[in-house]
Amino acid sequence: MVTIQVDESVCNGHGLCQVMSPAVYEVNPDTAKNEAGRFEVSAALRPAALNGANACPERAITVLE
Ligand code: SF4
Repeated sequence: MVTIQVDESVCNGHGLCQVMSPAVYEVNPDTAKNEAGRFEVSAALRPAALNGANACPERAITVLE
C-alpha cells in the first residue's frame, strides 16, 4: 500500500490532481478541493499517485513511502 497525505489547508481547488489521476484523487464537486486527508491506495497506483501529486500547483499532496 501507498500512503498519501493531502493538506487541505494548502489545497486551492484547482482540481488538477483528479484530472491527472482520477483513479487516486477525487475533489469535492462543489468546491473543487481535495478533502481526502490521509489515505491509502494499492502499490499499483503509486505512479498515478505521484503524477497527481506532481501536477498540484500548491504542492498540497505528499506521497509517502
Ligand atoms: S491539484 Fe492540488 S490544489 Fe488542486 S485540488 Fe488537487 S490537491 Fe488541491
